[in-house]
Order: sequence, then structure tokens, then C-alpha cells
Amino acid sequence: MTAQHSTLSDQTTQSDKTTPSDKTTSSDKTTPSEMTVFKEFSFEAAHLLPNVPPGHKCRRLHGHSFRAQVHVRGPVEAASGWVIDFADIAQAFAPLHDQLDHHYLNEIEGLENPTSENLARWLWQRLESQLAGLCQIVVRETCTSGCVYEGEG
Ligand SMILES: [Zn+2]
Repeated sequence: MTAQHSTLSDQTTQSDKTTPSDKTTSSDKTTPSEMTVFKEFSFEAAHLLPNVPPGHKCRRLHGHSFRAQVHVRGPVEAASGWVIDFADIAQAFAPLHDQLDHHYLNEIEGLENPTSENLARWLWQRLESQLAGLCQIVVRETCTSGCVYEGEG
């Protein structure tokens, strides 16, 4: 028999901030609440996918209005009241936008096969050193098609 009583169960209405303890092992006594913020960017670009079968439509040169979301997770700082300044995300993304916008993606180093997945990884590799807390990149190439990348491991 397991003798596991949860002694907290009697205090039903006292703790309004309790969340299901799915977190691994964190001492969340005085930990400031964590949140994820994101900023979305858009760019126009052309590409083709060189590795698909000859008749595949993605093998033909075409363009998309790509959208990329950059998600950053961290504690909400007490003084500022934010996780990160949105402007800092924009500043980190700006040089990448310059490289991508109105370019032929296949010509960019590292994007020889510019799928959404490879584009998400490409962005991650260039942003992770500048954005502490980078936790997710979403790339959309159409309104209904996209990719979510959360880094390796
Ligand atoms: Zn495409």
C-alpha cells in the first residue's frame, strides 16, 4: 500500500496560482512567473526545393510571403514587467530579415534546400547566441502550412 496523502488537498481555495505540477524539479517558492513572448516577422522570398521528385510543384521556382515567429521564454522581470523588450527581438532579427527579404533563398549559404524546417533551423542557429531564452521558432510559408522548431534536445 502506498501511503501518499496530499496534505494540500484541504486548502482548496487558498492558492489561486497553483498549477498542475508538471514541472520537473523547480523550487517555485519565490521564482518569478515565467512567460513566453513572441514577435512575428514577415518577408517575401523565392525558392524551389531541389530534392523533391521532378514533377513536384515545389520544384518549380515560386515565392511565398513567409512569416517567422520568434519566441523567447523567461521570468517576467519585476521592474520592467516584461520578459524581454520586443525591440531586442526585432534588433536581433533585423540582419536576418535583410538577408532573406526579396532574395532567392536557395542562394543563401545554409539554405540550399530551403524548406520551412531548414529555414527554422537556420534562423535558430543565428538567433540563439543573441536571444537568451529563445525557445521556439515558427516558420509559415502559407496561411495553412508551417513548421515549429524548438531547438535540438
Ligand atoms: Zn514553397
